[in-house]
Amino acid sequence: MSAFNTVKTRASCPFCDNSHEWTIQFKYGNCCQYEYRVGNKLRWGGNRKGQNVGGLVRTAGIAEERCKSCGKDYVNAAVYFCDNIIERVELLRRPLQLKDYYELV
Ligand SMILES: [Zn+2]
Repeated sequence: MSAFNTVKTRASCPFCDNSHEWTIQFKYGNCCQYEYRVGNKLRWGGNRKGQNVGGLVRTAGIAEERCKSCGKDYVNAAVYFCDNIIERVELLRRPLQLKDYYELV
Protein backbone atom coordinates (compact mmCIF):
# COMPACT_ATOMS: atom_id res chain seq x y z
CA MET A 1 0.00 0.00 0.00
CA SER A 2 1.42 3.32 -0.99
CA ALA A 3 1.56 5.90 1.76
CA PHE A 4 2.18 9.50 0.96
CA ASN A 5 0.41 12.83 0.95
CA THR A 6 0.00 15.32 -1.84
CA VAL A 7 0.10 19.07 -2.14
CA LYS A 8 -1.41 20.90 -5.10
CA THR A 9 0.16 24.16 -6.12
CA ARG A 10 0.96 26.38 -9.05
CA ALA A 11 4.68 26.41 -9.84
CA SER A 12 7.13 26.90 -12.68
CA CYS A 13 8.58 23.87 -14.42
CA PRO A 14 12.36 23.77 -13.78
CA PHE A 15 12.93 22.57 -17.34
CA CYS A 16 10.74 24.82 -19.51
CA ASP A 17 9.78 27.59 -17.03
CA ASN A 18 6.05 27.37 -17.81
CA SER A 19 3.84 27.86 -14.78
CA HIS A 20 0.85 25.61 -14.12
CA GLU A 21 -0.85 23.49 -11.47
CA TRP A 22 1.05 20.48 -10.11
CA THR A 23 0.29 17.68 -7.66
CA ILE A 24 3.35 16.82 -5.59
CA GLN A 25 3.66 13.59 -3.58
CA PHE A 26 5.66 13.71 -0.37
CA LYS A 27 6.33 11.55 2.70
CA TYR A 28 6.26 13.62 5.85
CA GLY A 29 3.73 13.79 8.69
CA ASN A 30 0.83 11.36 8.87
CA CYS A 31 1.09 9.72 5.44
CA CYS A 32 -2.46 8.76 4.56
CA GLN A 33 -3.24 10.15 1.09
CA TYR A 34 -4.12 13.57 2.50
CA GLU A 35 -4.54 16.22 -0.18
CA TYR A 36 -3.12 19.55 0.87
CA ARG A 37 -2.72 22.97 -0.62
CA VAL A 38 -0.08 25.56 0.25
CA GLY A 39 -1.16 27.22 3.53
CA ASN A 40 -2.71 24.04 4.97
CA LYS A 41 -1.47 22.53 8.23
CA LEU A 42 0.18 19.12 8.14
CA ARG A 43 -1.53 16.34 10.13
CA TRP A 44 0.46 14.12 12.55
CA GLY A 45 -0.16 10.76 14.21
CA GLY A 46 -1.19 7.60 12.42
CA ASN A 47 1.26 6.53 9.73
CA ARG A 48 3.97 8.94 10.80
CA LYS A 49 7.02 9.68 8.63
CA GLY A 50 9.72 11.88 10.10
CA GLN A 51 9.52 13.86 13.31
CA ASN A 52 7.21 16.70 14.26
CA VAL A 53 10.00 19.15 15.02
CA GLY A 54 8.24 22.37 14.03
CA GLY A 55 10.26 25.31 12.75
CA LEU A 56 11.49 25.47 9.17
CA VAL A 57 11.61 22.05 7.57
CA ARG A 58 11.71 20.69 4.05
CA THR A 59 11.00 17.31 2.59
CA ALA A 60 11.52 15.78 -0.84
CA GLY A 61 8.64 15.41 -3.27
CA ILE A 62 7.86 14.28 -6.79
CA ALA A 63 5.27 15.46 -9.30
CA GLU A 64 2.41 13.04 -10.06
CA GLU A 65 1.91 14.30 -13.57
CA ARG A 66 4.12 15.20 -16.50
CA CYS A 67 4.79 18.83 -17.26
CA LYS A 68 1.82 20.01 -19.33
CA SER A 69 4.16 22.13 -21.44
CA CYS A 70 7.37 20.17 -22.10
CA GLY A 71 6.22 16.65 -21.14
CA LYS A 72 9.03 16.11 -18.61
CA ASP A 73 8.18 13.20 -16.29
CA TYR A 74 9.16 12.61 -12.64
CA VAL A 75 9.86 16.26 -11.88
CA ASN A 76 11.39 16.50 -8.39
CA ALA A 77 10.37 18.96 -5.72
CA ALA A 78 11.11 20.30 -2.26
CA VAL A 79 8.14 21.01 0.02
CA TYR A 80 8.80 23.65 2.70
CA PHE A 81 7.00 23.83 6.06
CA CYS A 82 6.97 26.53 8.71
CA ASP A 83 5.66 25.14 12.04
CA ASN A 84 3.85 22.43 10.04
CA ILE A 85 2.13 24.89 7.69
CA ILE A 86 2.93 24.11 4.06
CA GLU A 87 4.74 27.25 3.05
CA ARG A 88 5.78 26.65 -0.55
CA VAL A 89 6.80 24.07 -3.12
CA GLU A 90 9.90 24.39 -5.23
CA LEU A 91 10.27 22.25 -8.35
CA LEU A 92 13.78 20.96 -8.93
CA ARG A 93 15.87 19.58 -11.78
CA ARG A 94 17.46 17.01 -9.45
CA PRO A 95 16.13 15.07 -6.45
CA LEU A 96 16.61 16.62 -3.05
CA GLN A 97 19.14 14.38 -1.27
CA LEU A 98 17.97 13.79 2.29
CA LYS A 99 19.24 11.31 4.87
CA ASP A 100 15.82 11.13 6.52
CA TYR A 101 12.25 12.02 5.54
CA TYR A 102 12.96 15.67 6.27
CA GLU A 103 15.65 18.18 7.15
CA LEU A 104 15.72 21.45 9.05
CA VAL A 105 16.42 24.47 6.87
ZN1 LIG B 1 8.14 21.80 -18.47
